[in-house]
Amino acid sequence: MKGLYIHIPFCLKKCAYCDFNSAVAPDSKKEEYVNALICEMSEYKGAEFDTVYIGGGTPTALETELLAKVIENIGVNFSVSPDAEFTVEMNPKTADFKKLDMMYKMGVNRLSIGVQSFCDDELCALGRIHNCKDAKDAIALAREVGFENISIDLMSAIPHQTMESFKETLDTAILQNPDHISCYSLILEEETPLFDSVNAGEITLCDEETEREMYEYAVETLEKNGYMQYEISNFAKNGKVSRHNLKYWNLEEYIGLGLSAHSFAGGVRLANTDDIAEYNRHNFRNGEKEVLTKKEMMSEFMFLGLRKTEGVSKSVFFEKFGRNIYDIFPKSLEKFLKTGFLIDENGKVRLSHSAVIVSNQIMCEFLL
Ligand code: SF4
Repeated sequence: MKGLYIHIPFCLKKCAYCDFNSAVAPDSKKEEYVNALICEMSEYKGAEFDTVYIGGGTPTALETELLAKVIENIGVNFSVSPDAEFTVEMNPKTADFKKLDMMYKMGVNRLSIGVQSFCDDELCALGRIHNCKDAKDAIALAREVGFENISIDLMSAIPHQTMESFKETLDTAILQNPDHISCYSLILEEETPLFDSVNAGEITLCDEETEREMYEYAVETLEKNGYMQYEISNFAKNGKVSRHNLKYWNLEEYIGLGLSAHSFAGGVRLANTDDIAEYNRHNFRNGEKEVLTKKEMMSEFMFLGLRKTEGVSKSVFFEKFGRNIYDIFPKSLEKFLKTGFLIDENGKVRLSHSAVIVSNQIMCEFLL
């Protein structure tokens, strides 16, 4: 079954490092957008999904009633399986009982909370609107409402972050007992205030060596505390992996609705417009249509599949494409198996522990 992604492009304030298509907007603009979104939903009426993910931006930047309208219309337009994973992204500052209770009662069963750090000076440097206490309170409130699947996002290589403060963030995160942790390194994007500050020499980011140490420390500490690493940057307790995100890494089908959203179905990738005025005029698509060849599909399956710690199943590859993985990628497989960066074990090809840090270079070699 397909996954459904819904994009809400609004935030309460723009973070210093963010280059996503999101903006601060008045309530009237949010309403106009939600009405357009509902119209786009109706184009796929009757579609069946077993994962739903409302992301952004900050979906919880919508007032409770407006967010409820989005969730209600998902139910009206689509058939969502009873055991579906239904995630909403949330900024800690936007967590209140009324909103959380509404989401919970309307079937949202997973929250993805953008914590990033449990150190106030780092949150301040990132331009986040919340502090450490807000993050802890949001997690506790979500539990109180009844959520049994809570994911938090953490970041490494943040301005002012040291190995010590990163350890403090991880320790505090573990104490909050989330079910899932995503831990990504900060990426310095051009045309952001943070990029300008770094370029002007006002802020120094940590070096690559420290970044690597942080990553290794995170993997080791999280595993010790019951979080199984199932993807390069994702860790889950008690099997609570992100079923929606696994669809991306398994090259499964999904429909993306909303500003800048992408869909992938039947080997075709479609993109929505990134111009909100156009979107609100109900001109949803931007005209881009990418039809993937079998060769491209095989490449992507490999490229994305190697992100998972379990790797790529040789039999699933054969079932999907009717070809043996070794006939398609003979040179890259031979090269990395020899160096020990790849391991072929139990019917799967996966990255070795030492390869994770250079994974991008390795995965690129599978682009045909
Ligand atoms: S909350 Fe997320 S989407 Fe919004 S500005 Fe910050 S990083 Fe960007």
